[in-house]
Amino acid sequence: MRMQTKLILAFVFIGLFSCGIVGYIDYYMVKSDFQEVSRTRVFASFQEDVLGYIGLYGGLKEALASEEFDTYVRRNHRLQQDKRPPAKGTPPLVDRWEQPPFKLLLLDADGVVVMPAGGLKVGEKVSAAVMEEAVPIELKGEVVALGSTIGDEVFTPQDMRYLGAVKQSLIRGALIAIGLSLVLGVVFGRRLSKAVTDLTTAVKLMHEHREEVWQVEVTSNDELGELAESFNEMNVELARAHTELRELAIKDPLTGLYNRRHFDEQAMHYYESATRYEQPLSVMVGDLDHFKQINDTFSHEIGDLVLEKVAELFEKNTRKSDVVARYGGEEFVVLFAHTNKEHAAVSCENIRQAIEAYPWEEYHPDLKVTLSMGLCDATILGSVSSMISQADKLLYQAKSEGRNRLVKG
Ligand code: GH3
Ligand code: MG
Ligand code: MG
Repeated sequence: MRMQTKLILAFVFIGLFSCGIVGYIDYYMVKSDFQEVSRTRVFASFQEDVLGYIGLYGGLKEALASEEFDTYVRRNHRLQQDKRPPAKGTPPLVDRWEQPPFKLLLLDADGVVVMPAGGLKVGEKVSAAVMEEAVPIELKGEVVALGSTIGDEVFTPQDMRYLGAVKQSLIRGALIAIGLSLVLGVVFGRRLSKAVTDLTTAVKLMHEHREEVWQVEVTSNDELGELAESFNEMNVELARAHTELRELAIKDPLTGLYNRRHFDEQAMHYYESATRYEQPLSVMVGDLDHFKQINDTFSHEIGDLVLEKVAELFEKNTRKSDVVARYGGEEFVVLFAHTNKEHAAVSCENIRQAIEAYPWEEYHPDLKVTLSMGLCDATILGSVSSMISQADKLLYQAKSEGRNRLVKG
């Protein structure tokens, strides 16, 4: 599986999971808060009713003997309701009372059940635990009864509607959060994985094209950013090292011209293409005249300087598309692509004259340097090495004819 897919899936999963958990916890917290508020409110109203009930008859015993608590409550609430009609949409107080969310237990001051709930019977004495839970109901500073809420929550249709609306809005919120987490998951997943994908691509490219520089964009200053920066630096160094290595492998260290091996490779490549597309191709082999004498007379160091300068003059008098190489000690070769011997001869003559005319007295007052050359464009010979051999023969002809000249054939 791709890194991008993994990251997106991880983000989406975390998003979905946290939305689900938060939604679930929220709903239960709202429900329990709602229950607590409801319990407090109902108990307060119950406490008020008990006080009214006892107050009306002067005491709990007297009240119980005169009228049932439920009857009192219904009568009392109905009276209140008549006086103050409920706001539209709110349930009548009587309904609220008839369907309380909790069972209400009323005990007398001694802990004997007066109004039963939760399986207890009238006249039964409750346990110490129930007594402890019960809230004292005081009239004029005196505890007249004890009240307690008991049992499971029983929600009214109104409560259920309210909780349903809360649940709906939580679900809606969760769906929006899920949608957002999907979008953000894809966006961030892509963004994060982009750096890694770019790096992977660059590493692959670097492996395939070692001499080229492949830089990646540094988009952050975290570990990924550091990795990208290090990669960029390392890549520049590696590319440079590879280029240097390649240069070493294909170039002659003294003159900076291509070496014989590279020339042979290139010459084969050019020869194949020239014969396939029936294009002209010329090869020149040149050799410095009496070079041994130059070394012997003026020193090996001056000989080296001459070789370097001659190489420079070769480069100055050839085109970029020509392949110039140092073929041996004081032997140079040039491959003229898409050029017949008549045109190549012009370059060769320029080279010869440039060498002859160069102010060699800079190196030594008596120094003179000349070059003899053989030039061949006979692609018909069947191979580039045959062409080189032919040019070599022509070079020796030039030597024997008096040196400092070009012989083409
Ligand atoms: P010819 O005109 O017939 O070509 O005579 P030549 O003296 O040039 O030919 P020969 O082959 O007798 O001598 C070539 C000399 O080139 C011998 C060798 O010491 C010298 N040589 C070869 N490579 C280098 C080099 O890298 N530096 C220097 N200074 N001399 C070199
Ligand atoms: Mg030689
Ligand atoms: Mg020579």
